[in-house]
Amino acid sequence: MDDPEDLSRLLKKLKSYEGRPAGSGRGKDPVNAPMIRHWCEAMGDANPAYAGTDPIAPPTMLQAWTMGGLSGPAGRATAYAELLALLDSAGCTAVVATDCEQEYLRPLRPGDVITYEAVIESVSARKTTKLGTGHFVTTRMDVRAGGELAGTHRFRILKYAPAKSDRASAAARPRPVVNRDNAGFWDGVAQRKLLIQRCDACAVLRFPWLPGCGGCGSPEWTAVEASGAGTVFSYVVMHHPPFPAFDPPYAVVLIELAEGVRMISNVTGIAPERVRIGMPVELEFVRVDGGQLLPVFRAPAARVAR
Ligand code: ZN
Repeated sequence: MDDPEDLSRLLKKLKSYEGRPAGSGRGKDPVNAPMIRHWCEAMGDANPAYAGTDPIAPPTMLQAWTMGGLSGPAGRATAYAELLALLDSAGCTAVVATDCEQEYLRPLRPGDVITYEAVIESVSARKTTKLGTGHFVTTRMDVRAGGELAGTHRFRILKYAPAKSDRASAAARPRPVVNRDNAGFWDGVAQRKLLIQRCDACAVLRFPWLPGCGGCGSPEWTAVEASGAGTVFSYVVMHHPPFPAFDPPYAVVLIELAEGVRMISNVTGIAPERVRIGMPVELEFVRVDGGQLLPVFRAPAARVAR
């Protein structure tokens, strides 16, 4: 498949799937209060807009209303299956979900009957990534309530031929996706500052960065610098699956900052099995792969040992 003519023929075929259906159907249940309540409990989201006598559904539940569950979706589109089979036959047998974007046009309320249509929006030219060489496939799902467009859900996968060597030391870490909602955070990191958002209306602090306040809904905010002190709120030690550029075992840690908000990070300077809930940690910045600066947290034992 390295012959340029074969590649261009394949790309032409792949491109012919753009705009073709990727699935459609009706939500298995109408929007309903029990599912909203379970979601909010699982997420720890106590926003009063999602409870009480006239709740709306959390916007990020958009996809939940269209999921097929264990028994699968009601209607499958053959074009999407054909496209994936075509990529398989071209050697792109591995798949990884890369990102999703959602847009919300109107709130969903209990009783709303959900229908959806998904299309294959784009298939990229051949790209080489750290995982391997392949094609990005983007699908767009329009979600409707009572026929009215309520939101869109874009989902992107990479179908690729796995690289021969995926040794951790040879691969670079994936870069953060910087967008208009979180650019301020990454600008802060570049200056070795950990910035959190404070709502201008109700002064509630929030992290990760969001365009509006979860407490009062205000879109006005000010970035404030965290002191850098924190404690380990929870953690898991990753053994499997291995990802290129990450060398297991390592601890993925939920840090509670002194300011009260929590963030996912790594703890440095300590063996992963020695990480403990409640352990005090201190912010530091590390540069990975000679480029990207990342906020991480150093355990005190390691400071003494130095
Ligand atoms: Zn607020």
